[in-house]
Amino acid sequence: MHDTPKIRLYVDHPLADGEDVSLSRAQAHYLFAVMRLRCKDQLCLINGRDGAWRGVVTQADKRGGTLQVVEQLQPMQFPPDLWLLFAPIKKARTDFIVEKAAEMGAARICPVQTAYTNAERVRHDRLQAHAIEAIEQCGGTFVPEVAELAPLDQVLRDWPNDRRLVFADETLAGSHAILQETDAKKWAVLIGPEGGFAAEERSRLLSLPFVSPVSLGPRILRADTAAVAALTLIQSIWGDWT
Ligand code: SAH
Repeated sequence: MHDTPKIRLYVDHPLADGEDVSLSRAQAHYLFAVMRLRCKDQLCLINGRDGAWRGVVTQADKRGGTLQVVEQLQPMQFPPDLWLLFAPIKKARTDFIVEKAAEMGAARICPVQTAYTNAERVRHDRLQAHAIEAIEQCGGTFVPEVAELAPLDQVLRDWPNDRRLVFADETLAGSHAILQETDAKKWAVLIGPEGGFAAEERSRLLSLPFVSPVSLGPRILRADTAAVAALTLIQSIWGDWT
């Protein structure tokens, strides 16, 4: 049967004909205890680089196991070059933002510290794991990198000039500041924290040549909603929905 197996697993291992992949304890637990796979069962493997591949269980026990890579099921599919910059908020909502951004096809996810950001640090490994899980679940082959938390100031100072930054500015709610046509091929969108942006941050952002301020409609959205709304808006106009 040449159908695509339903179970998808991310492995940090090259995927090519005949490769053997050893499983970590956590992966073995997931496949054999939770999903009840047995020897000779099939699954779909991704690694964020080589597309999706059919894998077959060749050895299974409680603490480990081995898979053999058999054939490619899907070529690598890259999302548009769209980054999400967001100010981390409460833990569960930050997790939500990362999960949704991965599903929405963000190419890179960058937590930024703004004037009104409450979180001093974020669990980077945890956020990266959320992005991987979201990609396993949504059928993607590309895993967005979650960047380390960085101050907004520094991010703007080091900004590459060929990337447009769409600034979701809550003071524009209900105005006609919509997404403009652009020739840019690289984009990013910036979402503030629950407290919004400070006046100095707003004026700095508005003074930068690569920044385009936008409204996300007449209502003030929570930061997690705003992140999904902004990615939807951009993907539907410039991105991979069209
Ligand atoms: N406390 C702020 C709102 C912050 S909402 C206030 O009352 O004004 C969190 C973030 O979501 C904002 O910083 C902005 O980036 C984005 N956002 C929410 N609603 C928006 C809208 N209607 N237009 C543009 N950005 C919006």
